[in-house]
Amino acid sequence: MRQSSNISDEKAQQSSVSAVVTGAGSGLGYACCQSLLARGYRVTAVDLNLDAWGDGAENLVCEAADVASAADAERILQEHAERWGAPGVLVNCAGVAAPGATLRPDGPMALDEFRRVLEINTVGTFNYLRVAARHMQGGPADADGQRGVIVNTSSVAAFDGMVGQAAYSASKGAVAAMTLPLARELGKYGIRVVAIAPGVFSTPMVHGMKEKARDIVSALRPPFPDRLGHPDEFAAMVLSIVDQHLLNGVVIRLDGGIRLPPR
Ligand code: NAD
Repeated sequence: MRQSSNISDEKAQQSSVSAVVTGAGSGLGYACCQSLLARGYRVTAVDLNLDAWGDGAENLVCEAADVASAADAERILQEHAERWGAPGVLVNCAGVAAPGATLRPDGPMALDEFRRVLEINTVGTFNYLRVAARHMQGGPADADGQRGVIVNTSSVAAFDGMVGQAAYSASKGAVAAMTLPLARELGKYGIRVVAIAPGVFSTPMVHGMKEKARDIVSALRPPFPDRLGHPDEFAAMVLSIVDQHLLNGVVIRLDGGIRLPPR
């Protein structure tokens, strides 16, 4: 077992590394990009839509891509590595909520509707982490032997999914469930894997909900604080995970103590 390393040295090393963020065009992913850039990271931002970045930013490269594409993930990570070296951080935020009943007046949910949610939320997450981990594996280690940190975004719906969230909960449950086996497998390369299960955050995903769903969300009363989470709070959690080497193989609820009701 190695000795604990000097934390300020580690922070100095981390500030010179680079990061890849998916879902970087909006909400939680956008906030993560901003926080990482503010800390001196060079960042590749991946999203279907990166309009929010306008003319871009210093140390930021925007890549318009579908996270479910294997070829795009391989190309984007390769270009990132050639530009800045292996990423020290991957944050997977791309996702869709897509609520929908399993049984409807006109028949059952179309199978492609279910597949699409898993394809983006679960396959898209695994797609980027598998390729990023390959680059991290060959990247430089810090004083603690760490080569990379992977932060995936699950959801409290992985544990207390509401009516209409079968697909979403399944997709986020899979993200939660892969955390420990990945941490166990990748630890020997100095790569940590942590998932965040957010409660309800103020992002376009929530603002864009139909009125009925928005009413349900506004009726949720977390014990404290009784408000929506702010994307900056999610980004701060990501940076805390990056800094805290002992966090590994765990799913962290970031939710003010909220428990989703059945409906
Ligand atoms: P958001 O809609 O603001 O951002 C999601 C981003 O993902 C969008 O920019 C979208 O274009 C992108 N995206 C969707 N499909 C994609 C694809 N196939 N390829 C590439 N990019 C794609 O939503 P958000 O609230 O910031 O959500 C971020 C993550 O957090 C999602 O995975 C979501 O499920 C999860 N989450 C959010 C909340 C919340 O309350 N906002 C709660 C729990 C979990």
